[in-house]
Amino acid sequence: MRRSVYNEDHEAFRETVRAFIEAEVVPVYDEWCAAGQAPRDFYGKLGELGIFGIEVPEEYGGSGQKSFKWQAVITEETARAGVSFGGSGVHVALCLPYLLAYGSEEQKKRWLPGFASGATMYAIAMTEPGTGSDLAGMRTTAKLSEDGTHYVLNGAKTFITGGVHADRVIVCARTAAPTEQDRRHGISLFVVDTTLPGYAVGRKLDKLGLRASDTAELSFSDVRVPAGDLLGEENKGFSYLGQNLPQERLAIAVGAYAQAAAAIRFTQAYVAERVVFGQPVASFQNTKFELAACKAETDAAEAVVDRALQAHDAGELTAAEAASAKLFCTEVAHRVIDKCLQLHGGYGYMNEYPIARLYADNRVNRIYGGTSEVMKSIIAKSMGL
Ligand SMILES: Cc1cc2nc3c(=O)[nH]c(=O)nc-3n(C[C@H](O)[C@H](O)[C@H](O)COP(=O)(O)OP(=O)(O)OC[C@H]3O[C@@H](n4cnc5c(N)ncnc54)[C@H](O)[C@@H]3O)c2cc1C
Repeated sequence: MRRSVYNEDHEAFRETVRAFIEAEVVPVYDEWCAAGQAPRDFYGKLGELGIFGIEVPEEYGGSGQKSFKWQAVITEETARAGVSFGGSGVHVALCLPYLLAYGSEEQKKRWLPGFASGATMYAIAMTEPGTGSDLAGMRTTAKLSEDGTHYVLNGAKTFITGGVHADRVIVCARTAAPTEQDRRHGISLFVVDTTLPGYAVGRKLDKLGLRASDTAELSFSDVRVPAGDLLGEENKGFSYLGQNLPQERLAIAVGAYAQAAAAIRFTQAYVAERVVFGQPVASFQNTKFELAACKAETDAAEAVVDRALQAHDAGELTAAEAASAKLFCTEVAHRVIDKCLQLHGGYGYMNEYPIARLYADNRVNRIYGGTSEVMKSIIAKSMGL
């Protein structure tokens, strides 16, 4: 079926991104994986290419587009090539919506030009060592000073994508205790300058997959965050997270779908070449049936992604619909990539084959941005269950 979600401009942009990935990322990607991160100057290149500024309004140095489809094209193309842009997906897909929606005019002027150029990289820190799925249980605190000029930030975060390179991190912290009626009350968001005294980057975590993305532990010890770096209103942070998590989940759904499609492509090429019992693996009926079933599932995921992208651009994607798209696409990708790896035999288990990297990279899609179980809870709640 022809996809109608993208227009000619998107397809031209796709060609540019594909050529850029082939020239600038594929040849050095193994080095990035070995180093556990993309080099910092690569983000300057993405800035120069205009990739960070696509949705940044023109007055702050961007191109002022109001569609998530451009980011979806980039996500599809990186997945297609079996690579990533390091931790920078979080910079655009997760952090920018917060800055745009809740930043004051003064903050936007201060932050967005550096955001668009890649001079200032952003990350977002919600998860803590003691709490991930249950975000209302977070313990990091931010206490307003008596003179009202700054907040004193204390606590720790973990699993923060882009946490090593980040120049500013959107930190979720408690500014007030939860109330009896509402455990979510009292959380605020701060755009914290990572050079402030007391701010520390801990371990860069050693992960199963996504090896070119820097995932870090962070700690805050009496960090004096200027009051002017509070994002939006005090104590409203949880509702801001609720507004923006659907886009994060859509981004993960798009990536998972594209990884499944990439797995089929890599596998079709492999089974055509590999000869077993005197015939190509592609000639066995089992191979044809497995790949056909993978294709049918991936086509269904594509349809879900396309509908969700349209709904999101129209401002209509609900939290439950985003959860449903993430759940479906990530579970499909999990099944498809596993079957495709099986068709590679032992070579599929070797890191030099792209299917092995896809297998490892894909696994986290069912965990981060909210686990599959949390997605089911959100969907069930929307059904009145
Ligand atoms: C590579 C990577 C990158 C990440 N990047 C970021 C980032 O940039 N910023 C950030 O803030 N976080 C990030 N995370 C954190 C991620 O969002 C959390 O890991 C995720 O939300 C799950 O939280 P947890 O790890 O604490 O698991 P837990 O909450 O401890 O969950 C453990 C298990 O319990 C299950 N469970 C939890 N609640 C329920 C329930 N109500 N019913 C049934 N089962 C339940 C879960 O589904 C899971 O199977 C990242 C994680 C990884 C692995």
